[in-house]
Amino acid sequence: MFDDRAPDTHVRYRTDALGRRVAVLPATCKLGHPLTAAGYRIIEDRSARVVRVSCTRCADAIEVDHFWSLTTAGAAPDHVELDDSPYVGTVPVMIIPHAQR
Ligand SMILES: [Zn+2]
Repeated sequence: MFDDRAPDTHVRYRTDALGRRVAVLPATCKLGHPLTAAGYRIIEDRSARVVRVSCTRCADAIEVDHFWSLTTAGAAPDHVELDDSPYVGTVPVMIIPHAQR
């Protein structure tokens, strides 16, 4: 399901009003599906310090670019949320470039 391709970028973190460490992950897959509608899986590889966010719709279609790969840093988060805003301007690493689809 996953391979060890180069990460797209790093996980964005924030501290919420309760002082909790929050990992903010992309809310949209690399092909544009809103993850809450398409379904998703978040799987952390702690030894590699990478978290992968897979779009179920793309994974079911055997889409090679079905997941984000994001490097983690620091302590494990207390909470996770999905939000595209911190990732505006991020250019995802695509195995099949958008131009070839
Ligand atoms: Zn998708």
